[in-house]
Parts: sequence; C-alpha cells; structure tokens
Amino acid sequence: MNTPITIARGDGIGPEIMEATLRILKAAKARIDIHEIEIGEKVYHQGHTSGIRPSDWKTLRDNHIFLKAPITTPSGGGYKSLNVTIRKTLGLFANVRPCQALHPFVPTRFPAIDMVIIRENEEDLYAGIEHRQTQDATQCLKLITRPGTEKIMHYAFEYAKADGRQKVTCMAKDNIMKITDGLFHKVFDEIGVQYPKIEKEYKIIDIGSALLADRPHDFDVVVTENLYGDIISDIVALISGSVGMAGSANIGESFAMFEAIHGSAPDISGQGIANPSGLLNGAIMMLTHIGQGDIAATIKNAWLRTLEDGIHTGDIYREEVSKKRVGTIEFADAVIANLGKKPEILEAVTAGESKGGITIPPYRRQIEHKELVGVDLFLDWREGSADDLGHILTSLPLRHLKLKMITNRGVKVYPDGLPETFCADHWRCRFISKQAQSTNLEPDYRPIPFEGILETMHVAHAAGLDVIKIENLYEFDNKRGFSLAQGE
Ligand code: NAD
Repeated sequence: MNTPITIARGDGIGPEIMEATLRILKAAKARIDIHEIEIGEKVYHQGHTSGIRPSDWKTLRDNHIFLKAPITTPSGGGYKSLNVTIRKTLGLFANVRPCQALHPFVPTRFPAIDMVIIRENEEDLYAGIEHRQTQDATQCLKLITRPGTEKIMHYAFEYAKADGRQKVTCMAKDNIMKITDGLFHKVFDEIGVQYPKIEKEYKIIDIGSALLADRPHDFDVVVTENLYGDIISDIVALISGSVGMAGSANIGESFAMFEAIHGSAPDISGQGIANPSGLLNGAIMMLTHIGQGDIAATIKNAWLRTLEDGIHTGDIYREEVSKKRVGTIEFADAVIANLGKKPEILEAVTAGESKGGITIPPYRRQIEHKELVGVDLFLDWREGSADDLGHILTSLPLRHLKLKMITNRGVKVYPDGLPETFCADHWRCRFISKQAQSTNLEPDYRPIPFEGILETMHVAHAAGLDVIKIENLYEFDNKRGFSLAQGE
C-alpha cells in the first residue's frame, strides 16, 4: 500500500531541488502518493501571515508526513516563520540532523565525522515570546519545560539505541542559566540512567561547540536545546562538507516533516545549478521513517556512488576529485542511473529500521508543594540613581512586603551597589515578606499572601512609579525557584 505524503515545492531553489528529488523517488519506485500544497512567499504575500493557507492544514494533518522544500520568509515585521509554526503547531519536538563526512569525494578536514545532532524543536528562546518593555530594554522569554525536556531526552537515547550508537552528549549552559539549562542537564542525567549501555557526557555549550569544530569525530549523538542546536548543526554540516548536502527530520508523536537544512538560496535560484542532495537526504530519512528502508538504502547507495563517480554540482565541485560539473537535474539523472549500484569506497548503507517506532512514555507530573514567597516588580524608571530608587521603594507604605534589593540588567545595584555599574531604565525590584530574616546570603523566605503583591503594585503605581511587569517568586518543596542576583 502506498503511503500518502504531502509535499511543497517552496521558494528560490525549492522547486528545482524538489523536482530532482521526486524524479529520483519515482525512479526508485518509492511507495508514496503525493499530495501537493503551496507554501511560502506567494502565500505570505496573499495575506496569510504564517505562509500557509488555512485549508492546507487539513491536507498536512491527514497525511502525517510532509516533505518540504525551503521557503523564503519575507523580511519585515508581521510575517511568522512557517517552519517554526509547523514545528510547534504539529508537535514536532525533535529535529534530527545526521552529519557524515564523505571524504575524499566531498572534501573536509574531518573525514571521520559521523554524528547525529538532536535538537529540541519547540521550546527555548524559539517560543518567540518577546517584548519591548522600556525605551532601553527588550526581552525574549526562554522557556524550558520538564515535559518538553523529558521528551527530547527519551528520543535522543532511544534514537541512539535504535541506530547502534555508543554515546550521547548533552550540551547546555547551566553554569549560567542554572534553572532553565539546569533543568535540561538534570533531566538528561535522570533519563540517561535508564540507558546503562550508552555512554553519557555533558559539555557546556561554549567549549562543546569549540570541540565540535575541532574534534567532531569524538561525538556520536549530541542532544541540545533549540537555539544551541540551530547553531551547532549548521557548523557541523558545513565542516562535514557543504550545507547543500544535509537533510533533517522534524519528528512528532504522530506527524513528521522532512527537509534540507539549507534555505531557499535566492542567489542561485532559477539557474538549475543547486545541489538537490540536502532535500534528497531528507526524503531518504522520510522513506526510512515510513518503513521503506529498502528503497531509502537503494537511493542512498546510488547517491553515494554518484558522488564517488565524481559527478558533482558546483557547490562541491573540486578540480582534484570531481570528474564532471553538473546541474540539478543532471545530478538527479546520474543518481537514477546508479540505482541498484553500491559505492565502492564509501561505506554502503543497509536498510535502516524506522525510528518512527520510538515511543515516548507519557509525562507524569510529580506533585510538589508550591509556596509564594515574594515578587520581582519591574519598573521603567529614569529619574535618578539606584540609591534614589531604593529610598523611594523602602519608604512605600506596605503592610505585607519589604524591599530586599534592586538589580539592573541582573546585577545588584541596591543596597550597596557600585558606582561603576551602568544602569539602563529597566529595574528589577525584589520584595519579600516583612517577616523574613536575612541570614548570611539568602533570607529565610516566608510565605506571602497574593494580596501583598497587589498592594505593592498598587502603592508603587500610586507613588507615580511605572510598573511594567511582575514575576512571582516561588519555592517548590522548600527549594528556591528563582535565581539570585549577580552580586547578591
Ligand atoms: P541559504 O541556506 O539559502 O544559502 C546559504 C548559501 O548556501 C548561499 O550561498 C546558497 O547559494 C548556498 N546554498 C544553499 N543551499 C544550496 C544548495 N542546495 N546547493 C548549492 N548551494 C546552496 O541561506 P540564506 O541565504 O541565509 O537564506 C535564504 C532564505 O532561505 C531566507 O529567506 C531564509 O529565511 C530562508 N531559509 C529557509 C529555511 C527553510 O525553509 N528550512 C532554512 C534556512 C533559511
């Protein structure tokens, strides 16, 4: 039985590389029924701000599988990235990007690269919750959730197991973001325990990225957050050969989208010279996912053989190794002519198991006791120094709360700030229970009534202060659920 799939030809080089890819899929007798939708620039300009017509969501959702060519997101405000919308709306929580060197046919300084980057695809700064709060300050909310993190960690370990991989490396920045990235690291450790046969390591993302660029062959599976994953997967794709070569899978529990990692390359569009390999590799991952690993392997081996034969598109053409510079369709025809052949030097692939069978255990929320112990009141203020603001806030007539400290851009500036610290117009003022006693570093936080927060906002507003937002301070099972200020 054929599997119904949705395709979209996209923008720029999209239609050219999709045509080449479909030609190869057809020649390899992929058992698929194609349903085409239109997405991208034209649809954006017809007034659909997310780049897809509402009626096409039904086709997408009915088929569960989407092979998508790159699109151009028009610049300027008002347009939402279609990729981000599709990933989040359809719950595509894992972005899987295999990167493999094909040396010497595709030159790279790292002939032994063979890794898979698994990027969390729905959370982090890509939640897209941004605000301008004062004249000086903008903010972007970084959201890392336990269910989201558990899902990506289960997926990464299950993928490693199914793909016969030895090691999973987690990368984040929990030395700085102790709560958000700290949760990501903690859940990696917790779930990793369930996979005793897989080696586990954790690297802080900065040194981790440097090691990826210097010793990529030391890595096997890398699991990381959305933004870090976006950056490192392009770096690794580039150092393994060309951004035109790598495909990616966006996996959800009931839906999956496959694509090239590169964009619509408007600089070379319409010339028939784009490398279709990235989208073809996305299509190969798709075939494995839908249980057609045999056809996926046939196409992959033909593709490897074509590269070995020195039939190369311009982006990977090198006098020393290439025999013929070809355009997009000519390359596709060379792959078709090689269907049934295997590479002679590069390692041939065998039919892979579908990773579509990876099941993620349902999320079980642990019950924790949550206690309200204070509030951070954010103010837009430019009338004076930190000490001036401190004096105003300590003299507010409050029944429940008292000022503990003020920070500016995260650094404590009151009490006992330093004159060297630069202050913008965005102030975070921490109020805690009047009954809290300060011990050495941390006060002994006491529960506060919610009315204490309303009273503080009301009184501050009545005193002429511009309250721009609040953030409640909670303890969970008596553990602090908020960060200390730098210098606190
Ligand atoms: P790009 O990936 O389109 O191009 C970067 C460079 O790589 C260009 O020089 C291009 O010619 C080259 N290149 C890319 N793919 C190639 C291929 N298959 N064969 C040969 N050369 C190739 O990145 P960009 O220029 O930053 O972005 C162009 C547009 O693509 C933007 O509108 C961006 O928003 C969009 N984009 C879309 C996606 C997607 O739909 N998944 C991803 C990234 C960027």
